[in-house]
Amino acid sequence: MKKQTRLIHAARDAKSATGPVNPPVVRASTVLYPSVAEMRAVRKRRDAGERIFSYGARGTPTTFALEDALCDLEGGERAFLYPTGLAAIAAVLLSFSRPGDHVAIVDTVYPPVRKICDEYLAVRGVAYSYYAPDVDGLKRVLRPNTTLVYAESPGSNTFEVLDMPAVAGLTRQVNAVLAVDNTWAAGYLHQPLRLGADISIQALTKYVAGCSDVMLGAAVATAPAWQTLHRTSSTLGICVSPDDAYVVLRGLRSLAARLRQHESAAARIVDWLERRDEVAQILYPARKDHPGHNVWKRDFSGSNGLLTVGFREASAPRIDRLVDSLALFGIGASWGGYESLALPFDPAPVRSATTWGGPNPLLRLHVGLEDPDDLIADLDAALRSLQA
Ligand SMILES: *Cc1c(COP(=O)(O)O)cnc(C)c1O
Repeated sequence: MKKQTRLIHAARDAKSATGPVNPPVVRASTVLYPSVAEMRAVRKRRDAGERIFSYGARGTPTTFALEDALCDLEGGERAFLYPTGLAAIAAVLLSFSRPGDHVAIVDTVYPPVRKICDEYLAVRGVAYSYYAPDVDGLKRVLRPNTTLVYAESPGSNTFEVLDMPAVAGLTRQVNAVLAVDNTWAAGYLHQPLRLGADISIQALTKYVAGCSDVMLGAAVATAPAWQTLHRTSSTLGICVSPDDAYVVLRGLRSLAARLRQHESAAARIVDWLERRDEVAQILYPARKDHPGHNVWKRDFSGSNGLLTVGFREASAPRIDRLVDSLALFGIGASWGGYESLALPFDPAPVRSATTWGGPNPLLRLHVGLEDPDDLIADLDAALRSLQA
């Protein structure tokens, strides 16, 4: 079946019994057993790694349904849920690094990940280096003791595209695990596990949830990587609310249709921005002149509503004024909801293996589900007010 159909039918069994369309919310701490023997048998299977409803902290039928749908979409064997996308990243970084190990992290990583490295890897005696977002950059930092290669493609805010099969090949050469932040693609436009990665991480908070009203993260993994993540979650008691899992799974069903609308509206806005004299640069992987466009075209099935604009006269006060004068674009962190957002962004302080030489600050837009004509009129009015 095609991905779009799988989104609709994953983790649902519509034909076996009378029931609602959506897997219901099951709230639980205690799970009851008919006998002591049955309880012991279930716990034994659980301790051997089987996913089984045995205690609220080990997951419920609702969280299992979301995990199954994510595995189906990404081609993983097991999925693990976390309270946020950032918590998913932290769990992966801490699960695959021990004192004496080395971790390689892409320079264009979601910026808060740097803080996890500084405050949690360094003190545990784990070395880490950032690599320029390309194959040669990764080659330069790999060491015999590299246990984890951490990637994100396209990179946060500037959208550098990684050649994932090549990155996976290099990772295998040093026997490391490859974890990829797949939030940009929402697990839908790109499947890193099918290109050689071991773990695909997502902030479900973004496009999958789609309504800017719930936080959740996931790590979808192949064997044997999932065993390690399983140990981390069960040892540390990491679990999520079934209500949140329900809301996110509901979002997943309409993901394909929403992404197509975000993509086509963003493409219209890119076309319009390209013809503006104020604009010096547009970062958008679906544009032919975007660095890595050909790899994007090979490895991704579409684009989303994110784009970043560099202006000829880029000064922080001017960009701030531009954002303040937009009426339909909200000012706020995150993205992937139905609403448009605009955010000034300075890449320079969050790059260490590379130097940002482009216009600065940049303007990151998230193009929402509004009619693009209205968004263009809003951008036009804001750019005019800048000249006035
Ligand atoms: C937003 C984001 C995260 C973190 O997600 P939260 O759920 O907000 O913690 C991780 N990675 C990327 C690429 C993101 O954009």
